[in-house]
Amino acid sequence: MTGTATVVGAGIGGLATAIGLRRAGWSVTVLERRTELERYGAAFGIHPTAQSALDRLGVGDALREHAVPYRDAHIRTPDGTSIARLPLERIERRAGRPELLISRPYLLDALLAGLDAFGDVPVKLGERVTDVDALAAGQDLVIGADGIRSAVRTARFGDRSGPREVGTVAWIGIADIESPVHGETWGSGRFFGLTPVEPGRTNWYATAPEATTADELRGLFAGWHDPIPRILAATDPATWIRYEMRHLHPALPSFVSTAASGRVALVGDAAHAMTPNLGQGACTAILDADALTRALAAALPGPAGVAGALRAYDRERRRSAQRTAFASRTLHRFMSTERTRLRDAAVRLLPG
Ligand SMILES: Cc1cc2nc3c(=O)[nH]c(=O)nc-3n(C[C@H](O)[C@H](O)[C@H](O)COP(=O)(O)OP(=O)(O)OC[C@H]3O[C@@H](n4cnc5c(N)ncnc54)[C@H](O)[C@@H]3O)c2cc1C
Repeated sequence: MTGTATVVGAGIGGLATAIGLRRAGWSVTVLERRTELERYGAAFGIHPTAQSALDRLGVGDALREHAVPYRDAHIRTPDGTSIARLPLERIERRAGRPELLISRPYLLDALLAGLDAFGDVPVKLGERVTDVDALAAGQDLVIGADGIRSAVRTARFGDRSGPREVGTVAWIGIADIESPVHGETWGSGRFFGLTPVEPGRTNWYATAPEATTADELRGLFAGWHDPIPRILAATDPATWIRYEMRHLHPALPSFVSTAASGRVALVGDAAHAMTPNLGQGACTAILDADALTRALAAALPGPAGVAGALRAYDRERRRSAQRTAFASRTLHRFMSTERTRLRDAAVRLLPG
């Protein structure tokens, strides 16, 4: 069926959903509270399942234009000893294509270009949605793609579920030098990640609860293996992003609402914000967008059709996304432990 929808939020989840809806013949408007789309952010891992979803949304080629494959990455101790391989080769063998990495601005550009190609999907900037019922009253569907502090989620599910800090400060950045090694280095209560992102550049992320300034962060990783200190020295601290790691807690009872005040679906961080340890934040938002818009495209006409499609979307995505969020949080605890001997012994047992 087709209908009218407003997508709240022009992040990865909102733009991907707008494309899917428009491809299904819906009339779509995107409302974004920021006055311009922030072109910052480090690299996202895009799993083969999310790549297939982007192919179905018609933006797979634009993704591949700027993405690089992620292969041969290890988990190391701070002296540089490899204790396991990340399961990238297994993922590639099973899926027939590699995990890709792409910087957030390029992924946003790919989605915006996909949307622009229709020529009739307005992305209205500087529009902060506060009255969700009023918005929902005027159309067939509102999509809450408005991130971890979602106003759409709060309007329908109250504030029982909300952002919870996990007690870790994360730093991310991109250095203008290429690292010869990739993967993660796990120390006591802190870790450092290095991934490719574009030729000549390296994406990095670090967690260190004690570091509040760039100098402190550099000091904490000063004795770690090459090229970690060089990577930090080669990145201008003015470009580093520092944030408190958070996830949505407790998990929502539903990703959709078919209340009399109007139909609503949540996608991405609004529905299931997770810690970044599994690198699944962008992937799960893309999978939500794909599942929701496929269900709507296949729905029977009329309000009952939309309601049925929303339930189908909830069945397809909620448990799966919430399992991923739980696994990411569990991995966060495991990576951040100070009982490193036990942890590293367990990691050495992982299949190669
Ligand atoms: C500027 C920025 C940089 C980021 N950089 C990284 C990074 O480097 N690495 C990483 O792993 N993750 C990063 N993230 C998070 C990552 O993009 C998300 O976790 C993931 O892509 C899921 O996206 P989402 O679309 O669900 O949510 P988000 O990316 O959070 O997008 C939500 C959008 O909704 C808008 N919005 C919120 N409330 C309202 C409202 N009431 N009315 C209208 N609009 C509203 C927000 O401004 C935002 O644009 C970043 C997010 C942002 C916004």
